[in-house]
Amino acid sequence: MSDKKYKGRIIKGVGGFYYVDTAEYASEGGENAVFECPARGRFRKYKQTPLVGDIVTVIADNLSKKGVVDEILPRRNVLLRPPVANVTQMAVVIAAANPRPNLYLTDKMLAAAQAARIDAVVCVNKTDIENADVICEIYKSAGYCTIPMSASDGTNVDILKEKLNGNITVFAGNSGVGKSSILNCVSGMERFETGEISSKAERGRHTTRHTELVRLDSGGYIIDTPGFGTIDFSGISPSECVSFFKEFENYTGDCRFSDCRHMTEPDCGITAAVERGDIAKSRYESYVRMLTEAESAGKR
Ligand code: GDP
Ligand code: ZN
Repeated sequence: MSDKKYKGRIIKGVGGFYYVDTAEYASEGGENAVFECPARGRFRKYKQTPLVGDIVTVIADNLSKKGVVDEILPRRNVLLRPPVANVTQMAVVIAAANPRPNLYLTDKMLAAAQAARIDAVVCVNKTDIENADVICEIYKSAGYCTIPMSASDGTNVDILKEKLNGNITVFAGNSGVGKSSILNCVSGMERFETGEISSKAERGRHTTRHTELVRLDSGGYIIDTPGFGTIDFSGISPSECVSFFKEFENYTGDCRFSDCRHMTEPDCGITAAVERGDIAKSRYESYVRMLTEAESAGKR
């Protein structure tokens, strides 16, 4: 038995063990293996609880593939739902049809990603049943990487895979838009349960889920539990609300008032850009709705 130090990432924690995948660091002279480490180990350098997604060092035996977590490296961020550290990207999934796209919900999820400083890509799924050009244009012009795709016929799945490579991606979106189908497509596994909303919810009640990172052959990890990025809008100021709509920032310099709420103020750069068609109407409507929610939450 020869213990060595390895660097890796916690991909799951079940049954009193953490599983640390060292594949990402194999090229640095490490090992390409998954080490099993007891959860009640000694964390020698930090008094922290490890999370799925954490980059850690382990002292482990390469033959038995067992070891202990030695050190948790500094985190870039922590998501609560699902509980994962170091997420780099959110894939917001909407369907071109069935269910009809909910643009406000989409903008709220993108706002949550923006607030958490996580990159976002927009996947417009089910292009096999409905043209997605209009909706794609909204998010492309807002500056998001937008992928029209179909989990059913495989359209642009390779483009999504390219975006996932090098990232840890959480999928978000309404139920029924095709998140599980997409996860199956990119991972090449029939691992995620797909189907009609009602039957899935029924089965879901009887299964407990642990969040797990799934390593893709094409590179990167996907999180097997869809996340739902909702924001608590209370105490959010108009200027903060604007910062959740990244394309708006190009135009706030044109506002006459520095504290412009971009609602009914004269000489407003944002409303002018909406009128010119430089900002999508639906994005502006979402902003107004969010701001209104934030202001009424603040009054309560
Ligand atoms: P989730 O709730 O977001 O995980 O959605 P599912 O992956 O379970 O998909 C919901 C339903 O939509 C299922 O019946 C899928 O077969 C179907 N579906 C998923 N992707 C596509 C697609 O690209 N095109 C079409 N036509 N149906 C799809
Ligand atoms: Zn303004």
